[in-house]
Amino acid sequence: MTILDPSVIILGLVIGSFLNVCIYRIPREKSIVTPPSACPCCSLAIKPWDNIPVISYLWLRGRCRNCSEKISPRYPIIEALNGFLYWAVFRQFDMGWHLPALFAFVSAMLVITLIDFDFQIIPDAITLPGMIVGAAASFILPDPFANHTTVGFTNSIIGLVSGYGSFLLIAVIGSWMAKAEAMGGGDLKLMGMVGAFMGWKAVLLTTLAGSIAGSIIGIGLMAFKGKDRKTAIPFGPFLAIGALISLFFGEAIASWYLSF
Ligand SMILES: [Zn+2]
Repeated sequence: MTILDPSVIILGLVIGSFLNVCIYRIPREKSIVTPPSACPCCSLAIKPWDNIPVISYLWLRGRCRNCSEKISPRYPIIEALNGFLYWAVFRQFDMGWHLPALFAFVSAMLVITLIDFDFQIIPDAITLPGMIVGAAASFILPDPFANHTTVGFTNSIIGLVSGYGSFLLIAVIGSWMAKAEAMGGGDLKLMGMVGAFMGWKAVLLTTLAGSIAGSIIGIGLMAFKGKDRKTAIPFGPFLAIGALISLFFGEAIASWYLSF
């Protein structure tokens, strides 16, 4: 532990507060810059001292200072999760110019998870710039499947194309078999972004891990909530979880697999 650990966590909390704004406004096609955050109930602008990540929520006991309307615990949870993810990235990949890119990546996965969960869409405004940033930063991005090497441009482009392409294939076959859109175009672009940031191995592991997580949750929902198979469950959150598993455990899983 150094002074850098709490600094990274605080940065993650503050950015996490901004992510809450993005999650609410991007799918509603509102500006993420103006106006400042306001209470959704009484519309009163939130004072800076009432907008301190996590702490303000606890201090105000989860209610608006003005109208006492309940504030969703989702907001501090997302802030705390983002703080934890930044810290985990910092601990695993050390200091360097790759950190801002990786911070952006894990935050993007968090935002995509929540927006897809709420609206069943994955905004192009995140995934298209994500593909470009991933490819452009591939020279400095650490390869999650090989310690102390970078992803590299070739691997990044192969990842981008295979992520976008293989899912295109699955989407076509899925829609042909189920006569319904099995997977949206947003999922394809998300996989393109995952491949651009982490290379082609991450495309395989993310797909595998996401499918397993999705199946477990899907079966669970059917069993406990009586949801039938036609109930649409967004796939994006599971892909985002699969991508984070690839980032943090890619090398461990690959070497475990190769030991057989
Ligand atoms: Zn209020």
